[in-house]
Amino acid sequence: MTAAAIYAELDSGATQVADQVVQWRHQLHRHPELSNRESNTAAFITDHLRSLNLDEVRTGIAGHGIAAVLRGGMGGDRMIALRADIDALPVRDLSGVDFASKVVDNDYPGGPFPVSHACGHDCHTAMLIGAASVPTGVRDQLPGTALFVFQPAEEGPPVGEEGGAKQMLAEGAPAQAYNCSATAEYRQDVPAVHNTEEWITAALPTFQRVAGADKVIPTIPTLGYDDVSELVDKFGGRYVTLGVQDSGVDPKTGMPVPIPGGRGMAMNHNPHFCADDGPLLTGVRLHAHVAYDHLSGLLVPK
Ligand SMILES: [Zn+2]
Repeated sequence: MTAAAIYAELDSGATQVADQVVQWRHQLHRHPELSNRESNTAAFITDHLRSLNLDEVRTGIAGHGIAAVLRGGMGGDRMIALRADIDALPVRDLSGVDFASKVVDNDYPGGPFPVSHACGHDCHTAMLIGAASVPTGVRDQLPGTALFVFQPAEEGPPVGEEGGAKQMLAEGAPAQAYNCSATAEYRQDVPAVHNTEEWITAALPTFQRVAGADKVIPTIPTLGYDDVSELVDKFGGRYVTLGVQDSGVDPKTGMPVPIPGGRGMAMNHNPHFCADDGPLLTGVRLHAHVAYDHLSGLLVPK
């Protein structure tokens, strides 16, 4: 098969699973669980992974973490890890969507807390379940191994507990205040996410093919927090954000800004944050194309 035929196959697989990805996302959004308490979320993910024809599904990593393995039919030593975080936040869901969360965790340390997916992990998880089902169609053509990593506790485990990417590896921001002052104490020491030039250069052709060249935009450095840095620092990789709200990019600052007539913007971790379903298909395709391109040696830093 030519690369073009494989991309077409991946895109068709992604399109076939697109409606399900939206349904999974809504289901996950309705039933969020806080860091290190993701037992039902993990069971939901595992059920789907086990229904796919994967080589291995390992559960219970660093609490409720999951790693699924797809070995390609063409041998090869290269490996790609696609990762999603699965935990939710102690934030009320004021998104107004009909699948909004009404969940309250009464037992969490320091709680009770309202719980919601105000950081898009419902989308990340649904897209990665979707992506895990896409390359099985071209398994014979895959030179290497794809690993699908579902990581708990990205938002940080409760005080006194271990968890997150660091813990997953071990086993196998400052607050933005609105008219108030705050002191921040770092309970979990997480390195910054670095998108290095060599990885970005290597990945740009893939991103541009999937999303369209005019849709791929470099952004300025931000103080966002994501413990995917634990993985990227060790193995190399990239961190990408998908535009999921009614926003454009301010050409002066490189930051997203609301577009006129849209439903407005809310930052993640805000009770009003809510992602559109539309970009989920792009996310699934991005996962699948990045996986194939990396395994076949097309997406590799020089
Ligand atoms: Zn977050």
